[in-house]
Parts: sequence; C-alpha cells; structure tokens
Amino acid sequence: MKVPNYIIRVQNEGDRKGEIFYNTLTGAKMFVNENQLSRIKNGKCISQLEFLKDKGFIIEDNCDEDKITYKALTRFKPTYNLTLITTYDCNMMCPYCFEENTTSSLAYMDITVGKKVIERIENKIVNDKIEKLNIAFTGGEPLLNFDIIENFLLLLTKLLVKYDKIIYNISLITNGTLLNDYIVNQLKKYNLKGVQVTVDGIKSRHDGLRPSKDGTSSFDKIINSIEKYAKVIPFAIRTNYHYGEENILLEWIDYLDHNMGDYKKNISLKFRNIMDTNNYSYSRNKNSNTIIGKIFQYGFNKGFNILEGSICDKCRIHSNNSEYIDCFGDIYRCFMFAGNKNFVIGNINELEYNEKKLVFDNLKVWENCIKCPLVAICAGGCRYEALVSKGNINKKVCDYQNKLTGLQYYLKSKYKIS
Ligand code: SF4
Ligand code: SF4
Repeated sequence: MKVPNYIIRVQNEGDRKGEIFYNTLTGAKMFVNENQLSRIKNGKCISQLEFLKDKGFIIEDNCDEDKITYKALTRFKPTYNLTLITTYDCNMMCPYCFEENTTSSLAYMDITVGKKVIERIENKIVNDKIEKLNIAFTGGEPLLNFDIIENFLLLLTKLLVKYDKIIYNISLITNGTLLNDYIVNQLKKYNLKGVQVTVDGIKSRHDGLRPSKDGTSSFDKIINSIEKYAKVIPFAIRTNYHYGEENILLEWIDYLDHNMGDYKKNISLKFRNIMDTNNYSYSRNKNSNTIIGKIFQYGFNKGFNILEGSICDKCRIHSNNSEYIDCFGDIYRCFMFAGNKNFVIGNINELEYNEKKLVFDNLKVWENCIKCPLVAICAGGCRYEALVSKGNINKKVCDYQNKLTGLQYYLKSKYKIS
C-alpha cells in the first residue's frame, strides 16, 4: 500500500501528536494520532487501515496515481454553479476593483434576461441531468438591483416545483452596505446558504480602501449589518490585504473578537491578497504564506472559522458547469473576466456558445501539473493571473511552495483546536 501523491500529509506536534491527511481530490481530511499511526505501520490496526483505504488516503502499490487524478479532474459533476451579475453599478469605489476597468458600469439585469436564465437552468436539468444548483448573486453591488433577485427567485421556485428532486441553495456576495430587514427576510425564504461581505480591516483601513461614493463610512454600515443579521444568517467576511501587510489582519481579528464574539459560530473569515489590476502588477512576498499561517493560528485560537480559500480557492474555470451571467445575458467562465467582451463565451439569447468557449475548454495547463499534490486545487494557477502577469491565459503560474506552506499551516491551525 502507498499514500498517493495527491494526499497532503502534515505532522502535528503538541498535545495532539500525529499526522493530518488531506485528500485534495475529494476534500476529505482526517487526523491519525501517533499511536494509531504506529499500529497501522505494524499491521495491527486493520479496521483503521481499511478506513484509510476506503477514503482514498492509501491505495494499492500498483495503482496509477496520475490516472486517478486525471479521472477525478475530468469527471462530470452534476452540479450547476451559476453566478448572476445583477448589475455592474456600485455604491462604492474601491481602487483595487477590477470592474473599474469595465465599460458597462450602469447596466442592470432585467427580467427578460432573468427569464432566459430560468430557461437555461431548465435546459441544464433536462439535458445535462443536473442534480444540484448553487446560485450566487453578485455585482457591482447586487443589492442595487434587488428587484431582479426577488423576481428571479420567484420564477426559480415555480420551476423547481416541476423538478422537486433538484437540491438548490443561494448565496449573496455583497459589499454589505444595503442589507436590511426586508432583504434578509426575503432571502431567508430561499435556502440561503450565506452572505459574503468584504471588510478590509479596522475602520481606518477599511474606509481608506473601500470608500462609499457618497462619502459616508461604509465600515459602520457593514458592521451594523453583520451585528444585526449574523444571529440569523451565516456570514463570510472577506478581508483583502496586500502582500507584506499581513499583520493588519491581527488587529482585525482582535476587533472581531471583541465586538462580534457572540456570533462567532455564524461568522467565517476569508483573507485574500489583492491583485493590482490597474497597472497589472502583482508582486509576491515569498514568506507571505508563512506569515498568513501564523495569522490562521491566531484566528482559530480565538474561535473563528477561517476558510481554506484564504490560501487558494478551487479554480472553477475548467468546469463546463460553472458559469457567470451578467446583466446583458453574456456568459463567462470566470468572474474575473466578466465585463471584458473578449472573454464572452456566449449569450443567454443564443442557443450555441461562440468560438471563445473553446479557449476555455482547451485550457489544459493543469495536465502538466498532474504529479503535483496541489493540482486538484490550483490547476496550474489562476488563469486571470496568467493573463495579467504573463499576458497569456495558457501560461502556468506556479506558486507551489507558498501554497503548500500556507495549506500546511492552515491544516495544523485547524486541527490543533478541533
Ligand atoms: S501551478 Fe504549481 S502549484 Fe499549481 S498545480 Fe501546477 S505545479 Fe502545482
Ligand atoms: S481563473 Fe482564477 S479567478 Fe477564475 S476561477 Fe480560476 S482561480 Fe478563480
């Protein structure tokens, strides 16, 4: 038997000595303590060995790991991940926002597009045998166009009466300034999985980075919303930072600990580094994930859940079943390309995709990474990053050591306290 290369192993010291196994293909994680490990190695713990085998943490010596990885990455998954960009308009003007570079900032989705999206969903259910729907609303600021969200959800509910086996959930990615009782109550009727808001640290920093167009503090409005609604809906708070300034996250965690301590169970934190899209520069600090690893530890020790996407989100650009549809009905494969007409793969009003779809279907950069333990998560690196930093969407963008270190810190921080 062997541990395949797509399993990440992390030694855990301290009170819980042992090893964490993370199956990057399935997302399964497990902790095996020192005693169990030595019993397994000595062939004395058959049931544990069978369990590890069953969960894919160990495989027979003659199994081809590359084939298993390839199969897992190309397997059809009957889940449709659909994100609707209800408007490109926004009530804030964050300097790092990539949508600043798009030309259609005042466009709003209308119900004609909404109805076409419903037809598309039905098509996916009937023809592609979709079993699960994950629908997210984003913008611009999606709540500037809450009418379309409400009307769309009414239509969706009617459709799903016909297809009652379909599992669905919705989520909202908002700047958090426009949440109110009415909106929260409406969304709660529709399997709301959670709301993601962005707060870039304590008030002085956040308001500097995320100014409202009307000059008022967006920090106060967002914090009020979280305090009011985190009792009833799960929040993910995303915090953006620049490489080299990870320490600002410590004072932010302290702030949350002091002010949101009562709702910790309903709050997850996600930290992401900012890509400078204005001048397309993107510098990396080689030690950044070691520092961020220590910040994970700090956050977990305070009792917050930190999302794994803080290291690397699973890239969805390679999946045919992940789509972003904007207010014009234009279809994209990744949010970062939204608004850029050069990367539209089709339109809701047309039956066929255009030739640009092939560009995305043929993104096989990950095939050269098949032996990498991180390939199922990283898939050769972010394609948007490849475009802005290398001028070529097909180039590999490798940050292996940084990602691995960050992930190891993440797993250790999480398991030490759980
Ligand atoms: S780009 Fe690097 S880290 Fe990412 S999958 Fe390929 S080899 Fe692994
Ligand atoms: S290309 Fe980049 S931004 Fe787009 S889904 Fe993949 S990792 Fe995310």
